[in-house]
Amino acid sequence: VAKQHGKNRYHFYDKAQNIKIVNQHEKLKEIANALQEGEFELYYQPKVNMKTGEVIGVEALIRWQSAQRGIVAPNEFLPLIENNELIIKVGEWVIHTAMQQIQAWRAMGLDMQISVNISPLQLQRGDFPTRLANILSSYPDIPPEFLELEVLETSALGDLLKISETMHQCINLGVNFALDDFGTGYSSLSYLRLLPASLIKIDQTFVRDMLIDFDDLAIIESVVLLAKSFRRDVIAEGVETIEHGVALLNLGCDLAQGYAIARPMPAKDIPNWIEHWKPDASWCKFG
Ligand code: C2E
Ligand code: MG
Ligand code: MG
Ligand code: MG
Repeated sequence: VAKQHGKNRYHFYDKAQNIKIVNQHEKLKEIANALQEGEFELYYQPKVNMKTGEVIGVEALIRWQSAQRGIVAPNEFLPLIENNELIIKVGEWVIHTAMQQIQAWRAMGLDMQISVNISPLQLQRGDFPTRLANILSSYPDIPPEFLELEVLETSALGDLLKISETMHQCINLGVNFALDDFGTGYSSLSYLRLLPASLIKIDQTFVRDMLIDFDDLAIIESVVLLAKSFRRDVIAEGVETIEHGVALLNLGCDLAQGYAIARPMPAKDIPNWIEHWKPDASWCKFG
């Protein structure tokens, strides 16, 4: 009886496993289809200097306008394709779309740097610099400095020396790098030392609690000093209130991104936002 029971259970497990694989396959098909049907859109979130009021650039954040599901956030669908060839295709669509946006804004007299998020798999591919060079060459009028690539500080990056080499090849093409979600990995110092990123992005989890948690405040203070000693720029993510901005300015962090400044928005809203934005009066005092 026991044996039969075991057999049944095995059978049951097998079936569940099967359903999982079929579901996974369905989802991949749905996402591939979304790409083909043009259901992806980039939203843009401004990055500013709180002290001077300068808008230093915008970050491109992908959204899926699904016919069935409405607007789907990246954390809900990117993890499904993270280790799949599809992330390469979506990633290239993102870079192309950002380049076209830079071009469109320049045609309106608006020079704006765009940073795009790069997935670890994309960067691990040996041919990434070649593919990037190809994309850049389709936009001969755009100086590559207008494109910034955000790399996650994560163990998923794998061999840091190899990644560093790849990044140097891209830098030789003229693009810049930012280290995203800084401080969340296990060896932030190694990332900082080995990876040639000109901008450090302090992860929003530290910023969120900095006014109530002295440990988080201490981490931010250290990262700002660290960035300065390494001659990198530093920006705080997830700046949700004016008070967060004041605290950051007190620590010497002038660059910020977050809801206190602007939420991510469709490209068409950016020019008007830039025209009307000015820093809070309490921030200007630091100038
Ligand atoms: P990230 O690159 O760290 O982007 C910042 C995330 O924080 C964005 O979420 C943004 O909407 C959100 N955010 C900005 N300001 C605030 C704030 O003041 N408070 C709070 N609570 N959140 C804020 P989003 O757009 O949902 O993106 C999530 C993550 O998905 C991104 O984190 C990035 O890692 C990834 N992602 C987004 N777009 C792309 C893409 O085109 N390609 C790749 N590979 N990853 C992407
Ligand atoms: Mg980012
Ligand atoms: Mg981040
Ligand atoms: Mg993040």
